[in-house]
Amino acid sequence: MTETATQQLAAFELLIGGEQTPAVSGATYDSVDPFTGRTWARVPDASAADVDRAVAAARAALNGPWGELTATARGKLLWRLGEIVAREAESLADLEVRDGGKLVREMVGQMRSLPDYYFYYAGLADKLQGEVIPTDKRNYLVYTRHEPVGVVGAITPWNSPLLLLTWKLAAGLAAGCTFVIKPSDHTPTSTLAFAKLFAEAGFPPGVVNVVTGWGPETGAALAAHPDVDKIAFTGSTATGIQVGKTAIENMTRFSLELGGKSAQVVFDDADLDAAANGVIAGVFAATGQTCLAGSRLLVHENVAEELVHKVIARASTIKLGDPKDPGTEMGPVANRPQYEKVLSHFASAREQGATIAYGGEPAGDLGGFFVKPTVLTGVNPSMRAVAEEIFGPVLAVMPFSDEDEAIAAANATEFGLAAAVWTKDVHRAHRVAARLRAGTVWVNTYRVVAPHVPFGGVGHSGIGRENGIAAIKDFTETKAVWVELSGATRDPFTLG
Ligand code: NAD
Repeated sequence: MTETATQQLAAFELLIGGEQTPAVSGATYDSVDPFTGRTWARVPDASAADVDRAVAAARAALNGPWGELTATARGKLLWRLGEIVAREAESLADLEVRDGGKLVREMVGQMRSLPDYYFYYAGLADKLQGEVIPTDKRNYLVYTRHEPVGVVGAITPWNSPLLLLTWKLAAGLAAGCTFVIKPSDHTPTSTLAFAKLFAEAGFPPGVVNVVTGWGPETGAALAAHPDVDKIAFTGSTATGIQVGKTAIENMTRFSLELGGKSAQVVFDDADLDAAANGVIAGVFAATGQTCLAGSRLLVHENVAEELVHKVIARASTIKLGDPKDPGTEMGPVANRPQYEKVLSHFASAREQGATIAYGGEPAGDLGGFFVKPTVLTGVNPSMRAVAEEIFGPVLAVMPFSDEDEAIAAANATEFGLAAAVWTKDVHRAHRVAARLRAGTVWVNTYRVVAPHVPFGGVGHSGIGRENGIAAIKDFTETKAVWVELSGATRDPFTLG
């Protein structure tokens, strides 16, 4: 870490049971601004003891004031929270820009979208209806109840900390759960600042708790905690698998939102200007650091040259620079390990014989962790840059000659988060959308999400869906209640 005078650093504390508190051990670590490369904030380095405290606070709130609220009252609090988040959008965006190097122009928009998730689930909170089930067993009334799953551990990555947290929190709070949140070690500050807003909105203490910590220990302690009822995880596939295994050992419920290697499939009848723009949005926006990055471009051979030319023409004018400048289009890579990972992919693409059609090197004159938007051609599916998630601004281009070949190539990945099809043929659009193996398929667009629409992956991209009506039920346990109506005594040695 770069040495910086303590007095210049912004200082943050954990939030446990409504109180701001240092870690039990007093340990802290420093958060680095990836644009300047300098330490700018100091946050607590929480240990398993702090996780214990936070889980106990979440349990107490669940069994106490939060558990006693009606669903309508929960909805009103969520609505109020949404209003406060709207007011704080700029300041929260600023923290995410400082910690993660994301563009202010993107993060302000992202923060302004958060209230919509709280409003959406505020409306759903008191619509979690069970049902009366008619059975062929006479003399029984059977009904279901959707009860909160309990204490949720939410573990989030560094690329969009509050958006991805909100995808868990809004539905889970509406369902009546309480939370212990562990943000990424690289981007802890926005979550700590955000959690303080709950008191102002009127949430009882302990409903939302935050523990921050350097390295995997804090998240691992949360994932393994025996008093956590569900883990809602977003992050890499490798960590997600570990989290899932740990959860299974405790029979903790879990959802996993993981990595991707999403395909953009462009047919020769597509509007190529729109497709080129969609390709840029898919893989160069947010410096390619999005789970849904459209990092593989499958393009019909008749238009491949023309489309690649358009993509490179636009890539070469992307304005790299200070993420706080609203004119900047691509900021730095978010942290050193990620920067080094992207550079290693440039090297392996070269070694494995790919053609670097554009970029493929650091944008060194800017300082910080800048890399050039990169287009690889002459690739094949076995190359690392094509098979693995890079999580950087790197596009691999592969031509195809017919629809079946395009679909086979698009589906030739262990991931299945998202995909896009670009065509003017309405028949083909729906036909291909149905055959693409992915949790989301966009037609003639890319990178659009909303509270109302389920999001998640198949295969190694995850287990479960966030957002949409169904997501609230993932934060509940369904209980079936059988009521005997006749009052008679029955044979105790037969199944009813
Ligand atoms: P990561 O897996 O390294 O870390 C994710 C979170 O897990 C962090 O908070 C981290 O501290 C914590 N963690 C690390 N080790 C842990 C352990 N052993 N047990 C419990 N928690 C642990 O991921 P990242 O680098 O922060 O994020 C990038 C990844 O996230 C990419 O793979 C990206 O595709 C994925 N992602 C997925 C989605 C989605 O919705 N599917 C969205 C955004 C990002």
